[in-house]
Amino acid sequence: MKIEIIEPSSYCFGVKRAIDLVNKICEENKGKDIYLFGELIHNKTAMKPLIDKGVKVVNFTKNTAESILNSFKRDDIVVFSAHGHDKKYEEILIKNGVTFFDATCPIVQLNLKRIIDSKLDVIFVGKEGHPETMASLAAKENVYLYDIKKPFDYTKVKSEEVLVTNQTTLSFLEVENIFDDIKNHLKSAHISDEICNASRVRQEKVASLDEKYDLVLIIGDKNSSNTTKLYEISLKNKAHETYFISTIEDLNNLDLSKYKNCALFSGTSCPKTLIYDIKETLEERYGKI
Ligand code: SF4
Repeated sequence: MKIEIIEPSSYCFGVKRAIDLVNKICEENKGKDIYLFGELIHNKTAMKPLIDKGVKVVNFTKNTAESILNSFKRDDIVVFSAHGHDKKYEEILIKNGVTFFDATCPIVQLNLKRIIDSKLDVIFVGKEGHPETMASLAAKENVYLYDIKKPFDYTKVKSEEVLVTNQTTLSFLEVENIFDDIKNHLKSAHISDEICNASRVRQEKVASLDEKYDLVLIIGDKNSSNTTKLYEISLKNKAHETYFISTIEDLNNLDLSKYKNCALFSGTSCPKTLIYDIKETLEERYGKI
């Protein structure tokens, strides 16, 4: 099997920045309890070295965000994730004298600023429950979610003139359709397509992949939005088969012996080590061309 790692691969700059920040915080605060307020990035393999250093990930299943924030002690350190967060959370920590750091990707920050600065009501196109969506909805009043999985209720929008923006890691194909739907309903909508370049470039590559590839493996975690979108776009191209791979163990359930040309794509939070481990495992099992 001929296996090619399609570039860009592995971390985007926002993910790399977030990981570097937490490593620096660990270095400079030995002995302190460091908490990630939600998953820093959506990849368990990438998170493992941080967990191994003793960094804890806050679990939201039992308590509200507010009660967790109020439970931190003055000596603790809190790090907000790369996806953005409700700014009210920072106020709680400031009031309680708890040190915190913000790992929000600058591209997400820019989009949040765009929402806050706009004088218009905002339609935010995103996935319900995703941290970036929650941060955007909390950015100010009158931000309405256009959930990618549901039709939008246009009766709640008071004016035809709205700002429309989106979660940065959606698929350009689904966003195009949703923007068309919005333009059909609200003729004066100002559409601001905010799919980040790191996501878009990979999506365009997988959408226009050379037909010589008969197999595409998308590497990343299933809760990573940009990785899932790569997978969904790749599935539409019938020239090749597509599989979603999160760990080396996932390869054990697959017989890939009939394929000759494999393209390895990775999500923006996928570590390089995992991509190379998967490539080596495939070469060991199916031979190297
Ligand atoms: S995928 Fe895009 S928005 Fe998300 S962290 Fe990377 S650069 Fe930032």
